[in-house]
Amino acid sequence: MNKKLRDNCFIRDMERSFDLSVPEMNRIMKDFGREMKKGLAGKNGSLKMLPAYVGRATGNEKGKFIALDLGGTNFRVLELELKGGGNFGAPKVMKFTIDKKHTAGRGEDLFDFIARCIKAFINEEHLNKEAGMKLGFTFSFPMDQKALAKGLLIRWTKGFSASGVKGKDVVGLLRKSLVKEGLGSLLVSALANDTVGTLVACSYREPICDVGIIIGTGTNACYLEKISEIKKLKGFSGLKGNMIINTEWGNFNRLKLTKYDAALDRASRNRGEQILEKMVSGMYLGEIVRLIIEDMAYLRNIDKGIIAPFRERGSFKTEYMSEIEGDTSPGLSIVKRVLKRAGADVSSAEDRNLLKKICAMVSRRGARLSASALAAVICKMDRALSRKHTVAMDGSLYEKHPAFAKNMKRALREIFGSKASRINIKLTKDGSGTGAAIIAAIAGS
Ligand code: ADP
Ligand code: MG
Repeated sequence: MNKKLRDNCFIRDMERSFDLSVPEMNRIMKDFGREMKKGLAGKNGSLKMLPAYVGRATGNEKGKFIALDLGGTNFRVLELELKGGGNFGAPKVMKFTIDKKHTAGRGEDLFDFIARCIKAFINEEHLNKEAGMKLGFTFSFPMDQKALAKGLLIRWTKGFSASGVKGKDVVGLLRKSLVKEGLGSLLVSALANDTVGTLVACSYREPICDVGIIIGTGTNACYLEKISEIKKLKGFSGLKGNMIINTEWGNFNRLKLTKYDAALDRASRNRGEQILEKMVSGMYLGEIVRLIIEDMAYLRNIDKGIIAPFRERGSFKTEYMSEIEGDTSPGLSIVKRVLKRAGADVSSAEDRNLLKKICAMVSRRGARLSASALAAVICKMDRALSRKHTVAMDGSLYEKHPAFAKNMKRALREIFGSKASRINIKLTKDGSGTGAAIIAAIAGS
């Protein structure tokens, strides 16, 4: 068989295994719906469905708050002033890199480091730490929340593995470290996950917002649920009406894996966990592409020179996919540049074209999986899609990838038909900062 024919066959097979048909999306929706119900009843399943002990914002929350954002690429400390009427002032922000010594070391050291960052921020911004300032803590890992300011870490995700934190109350650990740094007067009054922060932040301005999604390093979603539906909260009387549920959807696992997904999972630090996340989010998509091109080079479907700079795990960044898929130039000169920059000096137009197809197929599947999961969440709230829903969205992959948002919306139209226009996905940046401040304000009201 000549190379061109072989490439075509290979690509066609691959496209088939990465495709998600409408019936397959419907099957995922159904399974996802079932797992949601299990989780709400406290039964074992892949969706934890964690109560957040908070509802939407009213828009009238006011005051100055400190917010912490842990669980993204950087650790950030912010100070925000909520002005009411859906308005807030420009936040003061400081970013810190958390190195491996802290993400994979002792938990106590991680929280001491966080407290030192807060101290540096307070000193830099000359904030008055004696005032009993309220602090909202965005902690974007699965936690079993017991109250608005108490949550036990269920397990680390996104590459974190600090010891001695699993099963512990992270607010308690933070308080201990704050006291050590002389910051005992700060009041940690709310704990939230970034999806919850994103939903709450969006609802501060837009009251019909009822879903929050993150598609960045990892992926997750939360939504507004009737308290009567949260069977495992029996006897809870703290809130009437609705409460936000953090689905922890990254862990959904009723999915068909390709051999590349299986290989990625086997090599990960959290084998068998976060299967949806591993097929959707920025931490993993580039790696799936890398595994495919490695295989293609082995099978001689692509020139070995292309894989040479990408021998190491994680070396093909998801960011490259955006550049590659966004390249519409004849001859794919941007793809050529991306490869050259990485160290693959020579590449054929044919191979560049193949690479673009592979990237598109992997990101498109991620978008369609996200749409299927979102469709299930919307149906849980509103089976017939009889009203409008605003979905607050955050995350660089969704924001910056040239086709992810478009593919996700197209898949929603395939699932819901014209009713899909009732779903408005709204980019809501920095819910993990603003949201945490609003939740801290809600906590005090
Ligand atoms: P986080 O999820 O860490 O809070 P982001 O939402 O900014 O922060 O997501 C960062 C991740 O998004 C990166 O690790 C990368 O995987 C992905 N990403 C960043 N920029 C791009 C881009 N231009 N195209 C595709 N993916 C991107
Ligand atoms: Mg983030």
